[in-house]
Amino acid sequence: MAKIVKEYLNADLSKLPNFTIHPIVLKYWALGGGSSWLGPNTTPITTCPDGVGSYQHYVNGSIYYHPSVGAHEVHGLIKARWSSLGWETSFLGYPITDESTTPDGIGRYNHFQGGSIYWSPSTGAWEVHGSIRGKYSALGWERSFLGYPLTNETTTPDGIGRYNHFQGGSIYWSPGTGAWEVHGSIREKWSSLGWERSALGYPISDEQVVFGGDGRISHFQHGSIYWSATAGARVLRERVRVHVKTLETPVSFTLNEQFAAMQEVYAMAGIQVDWATTENLVLAALNDVDVGGCTMGSVTAEQVTLFGNRNFVGVDDMVVYYVRSTVPAYNGCAAHPAGRPGAVVVRSASRWTLGHELGHVLGLRHVSLSDRLMTGLGTFGITNPPPDLIASEVTTMIASGLSTAL
Ligand SMILES: [Zn+2]
Repeated sequence: MAKIVKEYLNADLSKLPNFTIHPIVLKYWALGGGSSWLGPNTTPITTCPDGVGSYQHYVNGSIYYHPSVGAHEVHGLIKARWSSLGWETSFLGYPITDESTTPDGIGRYNHFQGGSIYWSPSTGAWEVHGSIRGKYSALGWERSFLGYPLTNETTTPDGIGRYNHFQGGSIYWSPGTGAWEVHGSIREKWSSLGWERSALGYPISDEQVVFGGDGRISHFQHGSIYWSATAGARVLRERVRVHVKTLETPVSFTLNEQFAAMQEVYAMAGIQVDWATTENLVLAALNDVDVGGCTMGSVTAEQVTLFGNRNFVGVDDMVVYYVRSTVPAYNGCAAHPAGRPGAVVVRSASRWTLGHELGHVLGLRHVSLSDRLMTGLGTFGITNPPPDLIASEVTTMIASGLSTAL
């Protein structure tokens, strides 16, 4: 550096013992000085209103310096956005990077003390900051499904929260809920209901995969939105809690597959399925459980013993006991002792047996139609997966006392 300065000044440094070079000058030189893309300066180095930082404008950009973050350049539409927000006196503060190419190679950004401005050719330049920026960062910035921001952070119409829209979705924040993304068909559904002013309120989760299946769900303050290709977007305002107790591990369909199938059908009823806990039970004597006639209100001694296992289970929660077989042989049996709602499902049961048996627990009876969840003709014979629940069945399920409003 001394050599550069010596050449620049064409002077003997020993005669300038107290000479220091302003960091803005060093930055300007590092970028190429007057022959760089910044071009010649249009102002002198000027102290900022805070009396601490300083800046210099050039034909094609500016360099800002603050002792705690150093000197960095801003230019183009990112500079214009920063300027529109109030320069370094805004919440963004001073730049802490030069304008840089985004990892996707398409856009540009500057980070600032209090946030970032992202630009791409098709979206323009917008700021992200605070918890929303934290979520954007956690998801992978512009390389995530969100892409580039399409708005600055904006106050929601209810006056409480904040949001940024992005190319591929939105991030919503409120003081009581934090920042969460919502996107795709679930976002469209929420939007159609009125965003945060709808009965659902603000999101309280990112979009999640439901039990490892094809379904997706976003949770909100007062409900959820479920989506799958076959069900479309469904608003869930009720929930049932299900506990699993396994004497025998399912062999035909995994627990995930059975719960995913149950949620797919129950979404038609607006009911969220919560898989609360899973416990292995070693009860060899009940592996082939005597269910008698499998009649509601009439249970065997073995059913009484089996359904006595309700560790962690709330009063209105349902338990499914996975066994090797029932005697006589069924796919499952929903007869249960009073006050111990639940069902037995055998390890070789169909994908739909879990939802079917718990449908019985929620008050549903058999029908002789193979396109319905409650078919009495066997759920292996269901003709139009996912099978249907009809309106009167939904009413019964919600009135069962085992479904709770979200
Ligand atoms: Zn049945």
